[in-house]
Amino acid sequence: MDRALAQSWLLAFEEEVHEEKDHLTTLDSAIGDGDHGVNLCRGLSGVRQWLEEGEVPDSPGGVLRESGALLRARVGGASGVLYGGAFSAMGTALPAAEADAAQVGDALAAGLDVIVRLGAAAPGDKTMVDAFTPALAAFRTACAGTGNLGETASAAASAAGAGAWSTIPMQARKGRASYLGHRSVGHMDPGAASTMLLFRSLARVASSVCARTSW
Ligand code: ADP
Ligand code: MG
Repeated sequence: MDRALAQSWLLAFEEEVHEEKDHLTTLDSAIGDGDHGVNLCRGLSGVRQWLEEGEVPDSPGGVLRESGALLRARVGGASGVLYGGAFSAMGTALPAAEADAAQVGDALAAGLDVIVRLGAAAPGDKTMVDAFTPALAAFRTACAGTGNLGETASAAASAAGAGAWSTIPMQARKGRASYLGHRSVGHMDPGAASTMLLFRSLARVASSVCARTSW
C-alpha cells in the first residue's frame, strides 16, 4: 500500500458509505438512534474534501493517521471515536513508504486493538468487532497463502460480510443497542455493516491496483 492506495481506500469507503447511507440509518434506527449513516457520511465527506483540496502527507501512514483525526472530530457518536482511533492507529503502524500485504495486516490489527481497547467489546457483543475480527483473521490466513493484497483484502471482505450477518441473532452487550436487551435480537448491527463496507472498499481498490503491481 502506497499513499495513492491509502487515498483510494478512503475515497472508496466514502463512496460505499454514501451509497449505503439510508441502509445504515435504517439499521441504526432499529437498534440505536438512527444516526450511523449520517455520522459516517459527514466524517468521510470531510476526509474526501481534505484529500481533494488539503495538504495531504506523502506517506500512506500519514494519510490514514490524519484521516483518523478528522473522523474523530467529525463523525461523532461511538463510531467516530472508534473509527477515528482505528484509522490513526493503522496510520501509525504503517511503514514510512510502501507497505506489503503483511504490513497492512499488522496495521489492521493495530486498528482492531484500538477499537477493542476503547470500546471493550468482545466478539459476540454485536458490534463492529464482530465484522472486524473475522476479517482480520481471514486477511492473515490469505496473506500467508498468496501475499497479494487484492486477494487478501477480498478474503477479508467476505469474512467481514459474514461477520456482519452473524450479528443478526446476537443480543447487544455494548453500545446504545445494549439498552434494548433482547429487543436488539433480529437486526444487523450498523457498525458491523459499515465495517463490511470498510473491507469491501479496501478489496475493491487493492484488487484493481494489484492487477498492475507486485503487491
Ligand atoms: P452512537 O451509538 O453513539 O449513535 P453510531 O450510531 O455512529 O454511534 O455507531 C454505532 C455503532 O458503533 C454500533 O453499531 C457498534 O457497531 C459500534 N459500537 C458502539 N459501541 C461500541 C463498543 N463499545 N465497542 C465497539 N463498537 C461499538
Ligand atoms: Mg447511532
